Amino acid sequence: MARSRVLDLNSLRIHQLEGYIQNITLIEQEGRLLLFDSGCINDVKRIKRYCRESLKRSPADIKLTAVTHIHPDHAGGAVCLRKKFGIPIAAHKDVDRWYRGLGGLLQHQLDCYLATSVAFRNRRRLEQIHYSRTINPDYPLEDGQTLPFFPEWKVMHVPGHIAHDLAFYHEKEQVLYIADLICDVKGQPHLPLPIVFPKKMAESFDRLGSLPVRVILRGHGQPIISENNAEIFSRMKQQLNRPPTPFVKRIWRLSIHSPEIKKLNYR
Ligand SMILES: [Zn+2]
Repeated sequence: MARSRVLDLNSLRIHQLEGYIQNITLIEQEGRLLLFDSGCINDVKRIKRYCRESLKRSPADIKLTAVTHIHPDHAGGAVCLRKKFGIPIAAHKDVDRWYRGLGGLLQHQLDCYLATSVAFRNRRRLEQIHYSRTINPDYPLEDGQTLPFFPEWKVMHVPGHIAHDLAFYHEKEQVLYIADLICDVKGQPHLPLPIVFPKKMAESFDRLGSLPVRVILRGHGQPIISENNAEIFSRMKQQLNRPPTPFVKRIWRLSIHSPEIKKLNYR
C-alpha cells in the first residue's frame, strides 16, 4: 500500500498519497471526490487501490480530474482514468498544444525519459510510463474560471514552468494547489525543472504570493503550512536570479522542442 497522509481543514479532507514519482492529491469535499493531477499512468492502480481500500469507494466516484499541466507525472493517468472509470478531465484549454507536431512528439519522448530517470534516482522499480500526449479535456479551462462541479476552486493560469500551467485556489479555506511550482529538494523549496519562460514564472510567483493562503499543496514535497505567503513566493522569485547549475542547464537544453515556445514568444 502506498504511503499517504490526510489533512483535515473544515470543509475539506485532503488525501495525499505517494505516487510513482510525485504526490497524488485527492480532495474530499462534502463527500465528493476531486483529483488534482492524475499521476503517471502507472499510478492509476495506486489511485484505484487507495479509493477501494482506504476510502471504501469506487474510483468511479471521483467526479473530476483537474490537470495542472501535461507532464508525465501530472497528466499521465488522466486518459486512462477517464477510459476505465468515466472520470472527466478539466485542464487548460490549450493543454494539448504543448506536445503537438514533430517537436512536441520529441519533447514528449524526452519528458517521459526524464520522468523515468527521476524514478531511477528515487530507486523506484522501473515501470512503463508512456501515455497519450493529448488528453482532450472534457472541460477546457481558462484563467478566472472555477472548476466544474467544484465552484469553490478558482482556476489560475500560472505559466513559466511550461506554457499552460494551472493552479487551483480555494478561497474560503485558503488552500492552494500549485503542482510543480515549488518543488522539494532535500526538504528545501526549489524551482521546477525546467523553467521554459522565466519572465512569466516571475509574474506567476507574484500573483500566487498576493493570495491569502494557509496551506500550499504540491506535487513534489510535503504541504507547506504558510504563515507568510508573500515571503514564500518572493523567495521563489529570487531563486530565478541564481545562476543555473550544469544539471539545470542540461534539463533546460532538453526542454526546448515544444512548438508553443516559438509561437507564444513569452520570453
Ligand atoms: Zn512538470
